[in-house]
Amino acid sequence: MSVQLMSFRDSVERMFTHAAGLMELAPGLEEKIRVCNSTYTVRFGVRLRGQIHTFTGYRSVHSEHMEPVKGGIRYSLDVTQDEVEALAALMTYKCALVEVPFGGSKGGLCIDPRAWEPSELESVTRRFTYELSRRNLISPSQNVPAPDMGTGEREMAWMADAYKRLHPDDINAKACVTGKPRTAGGIDGRVEATGRGVQYALREVFRHPDILKRTGLTGTLAGKRVIVQGLGNVGYHAAKFLSTEDAALVITVIERDGAITNPQGINIDALRGHIQATGGIKGFSGGEYRKNGLQALEDECDILIPAAVESVINIDNADRIKCNLIIEAANGPVTADADEILKNKGVVIVPDMYANAGGVTVSYFEWVKNLSQISLGRLERRHEEAKARMLVEELERLSADTGLNWTLSKGFKEAFLTGADELELVRSGLDDTMREAFGKMKEVWDNNNKVHDLRTAAYVVAIRRISNVYGSLGL
Ligand code: GLU
Repeated sequence: MSVQLMSFRDSVERMFTHAAGLMELAPGLEEKIRVCNSTYTVRFGVRLRGQIHTFTGYRSVHSEHMEPVKGGIRYSLDVTQDEVEALAALMTYKCALVEVPFGGSKGGLCIDPRAWEPSELESVTRRFTYELSRRNLISPSQNVPAPDMGTGEREMAWMADAYKRLHPDDINAKACVTGKPRTAGGIDGRVEATGRGVQYALREVFRHPDILKRTGLTGTLAGKRVIVQGLGNVGYHAAKFLSTEDAALVITVIERDGAITNPQGINIDALRGHIQATGGIKGFSGGEYRKNGLQALEDECDILIPAAVESVINIDNADRIKCNLIIEAANGPVTADADEILKNKGVVIVPDMYANAGGVTVSYFEWVKNLSQISLGRLERRHEEAKARMLVEELERLSADTGLNWTLSKGFKEAFLTGADELELVRSGLDDTMREAFGKMKEVWDNNNKVHDLRTAAYVVAIRRISNVYGSLGL
């Protein structure tokens, strides 16, 4: 018998409310932070294949306590206003947790990207950009979209180009979206960033013996049995890095059309190649196929990585999950009621707002690169050193003036000033960010006896920072 599943939005609100309830916030502030400020809905027509097709799109702005607001744009037939608002809220908390100076936003377009030719998708994307631009919902200083499910570098390049044509005099036009190809102003390491962040997050867990002990695991990531759900951009990079760099065994990959299992470990690049060639995982020779993919979430393993959509672990299956360490590479893969059940069983959950923050962290580096108009590559950088120094000083001054943290982390600043390769620079900046944020969550967990899990700790850190910003704004 299947029960009524909790909505993603209700889940996010319940988790937020639980954490906010443990804090002493100024009267009324909890609600101010929780609610979504605005959502713009647009319906527009594009002439394709001899007829006009009408598309529905959304851009939600959850919190403008810092601007620009930031968050991806999702292309999927399942996009709804509720979903986009929940995702925008998570962006607010995620940015606060990893200290990137953005408010939260998110967009979505109801479209099946696989049903259209690239040229058709381009027309739709350009038209959507035009609609967003008319309302300042894409702008380097106010609202900066990025890739999400169903979108990537290509869509971001179209958006940046459409924006530039609409605003030919904006010298910061490149910073209107992040996740662009490098040739269009993107940054090395952005495509891998979210998956890379998942790897760094897991390494952090393994660096903290007291947390690791709760999972029953010991030692390092080497040989640990991993199940990954979703081999899209995030799942692919996480699975690839964990298996090739940390010697973890990805024993099962779950995709739309089923699951592949190989106890010796799956060759992730080979599987990815098979999916690209055939459209699915069925028929892959490097493992055993099973049609009911989602059932594999309930298999025994050491680390479970849901990396696709929200609510896959819910009240229906939470009881049957056998893994003691879940890392949420997707946004909202565990519903609030499932979270309760798992917590009571002692499962450690590394929450989405931390685990998948690598994407927006590297988006921040790209945005800074675009605004500063300097290239971070070593060769070009020789000529740009003075400018780099000026930028670091400027960010430090801004922090001192506003009391907000605009400074680049230590390792990142060093790499930046010594002219490391852009990819090196990005990875070290991301690693720093993930370590620092983990430390903050851990501090709350250790010192607040009302906090018993990483998610609540993450919310407490994020809410505290947002409330400090409101405080400094005199609200
Ligand atoms: N869509 C990604 C996320 O959910 C990245 C957002 C960004 O880079 O702005 O975090």
